[in-house]
Amino acid sequence: MSRKSAPMSNNALLSYAQAAAYVAKRAERLARSKPVTERVTLAAAAGRVLAETLRADSDLPPFARSTRDGFACRAAEASAHRPLNLAGASRAGDPPSGPLPRGAAWEIMTGAPVPRGADAVIMLEHVESAHVEVGGERSAPTVRLLPPCTIKKGENIVLRGAQARKGGALLPAGTLLGAAQIALAASCGCRQITVYLRPRVAILSTGDELVPIAAKPAPGQIRNSSSAMLAAMVSAAGGQPWILPIARDTARSLDAAIARAATADLLLVTGGVSAGKFDLVEPTLARLGARFQFTGVRMQPGKPVVFGELPRPTGHNQKGCSMQWFGLPGNPVSSAVTFLLFAAPVLAALAGRIDRGPRFALARLAEEVKAKPGLTRFLPAACTFAGPVPEVKLVAWQGSADLAAMARSNCYLVVPGDSGSLDAGATANILLP
Ligand code: AMP
Ligand code: MG
Repeated sequence: MSRKSAPMSNNALLSYAQAAAYVAKRAERLARSKPVTERVTLAAAAGRVLAETLRADSDLPPFARSTRDGFACRAAEASAHRPLNLAGASRAGDPPSGPLPRGAAWEIMTGAPVPRGADAVIMLEHVESAHVEVGGERSAPTVRLLPPCTIKKGENIVLRGAQARKGGALLPAGTLLGAAQIALAASCGCRQITVYLRPRVAILSTGDELVPIAAKPAPGQIRNSSSAMLAAMVSAAGGQPWILPIARDTARSLDAAIARAATADLLLVTGGVSAGKFDLVEPTLARLGARFQFTGVRMQPGKPVVFGELPRPTGHNQKGCSMQWFGLPGNPVSSAVTFLLFAAPVLAALAGRIDRGPRFALARLAEEVKAKPGLTRFLPAACTFAGPVPEVKLVAWQGSADLAAMARSNCYLVVPGDSGSLDAGATANILLP
């Protein structure tokens, strides 16, 4: 694919959908070679990617379990609304008990094993307790299901093995481990778990105007905010960020920085990919033998985004011969959007994840949006999830360098390139971070 040597007409660029399809295909291919694995403690597993099938170490649940505080019974007997003698009691932690005699009920707590013979649990709130008087003497306590309540077989019981059978697959390799997955692994007795090594992602910000965040910018200079932002995004996507020193807008500085990055699994270069006089990233990478999957997409922000691969130096020990790289436009909102849409799925593939994104959702538009057609737009927006339907509106912004606007947003509103405008109340797509 040709590189942009001069400002390109929009027609020469890929549409967003074409670029996304390209990335998805490449991610699919990269996902075929699995990353190296390591064992970590469960406590250190959050945010890591499972590298083995998690299997149930016993039937789940291991015994028929009551989901309510109440009375285990036979549904058919209880539904006759006659008093049932209380034959016993089980609390959570008690071993399985029974059998339940005919015409009887069994007091039971949430999480306790259901006694043999019982086929339903009546909720505590649905019974009337009494003592039967026999010949003036108080006999055993009874419970009676109160009309009009009825009960069906199986109600309030989770049968042994209903969630999974011993040895059955619970989670496939490639699952991102969050709190729920860790809880499941813990319930199966895993103190350690096998995960994929996190891909190492080199982050190279370029620009003569950039100074490190600890420095006070001189007039005309700005701090390098994008490296810190991308490091956070890389971590969240399952990668291990590696921030390189800022590269200058010279071929020499870029050459040295890219040579340094050669051991990374993925390279993100920010800035220097537009068609300006000092935008040297593409020519430098081309000189180093890079291939280009796309150079520019009909989108805003992020139009100059570049996706390519770079052969690794000979003798390099890295598995696979080339390193994937992205040239992300320098403005922070452009870098963030293009990372989410294109770099994150590739990173997810390198991390061994089966769910690779990007993630979109539907929301109702609170206000009309007007934009010129031609480019697919991803505009910083604020979505509220408090009501029955998520509602989204644009955040006022001063263009793609507006970090303050981006920090007030929690998603990006997708404005399709064909219409360019969206009506208030319409259902719109949002890109989730
Ligand atoms: P470029 O893509 O190099 O033309 O940069 C576009 C704009 O983004 C310029 O105004 C840069 O100053 C700004 N920019 C580039 N890199 C960074 C960075 N690492 N952090 C913050 N702003 C940046
Ligand atoms: Mg620049």
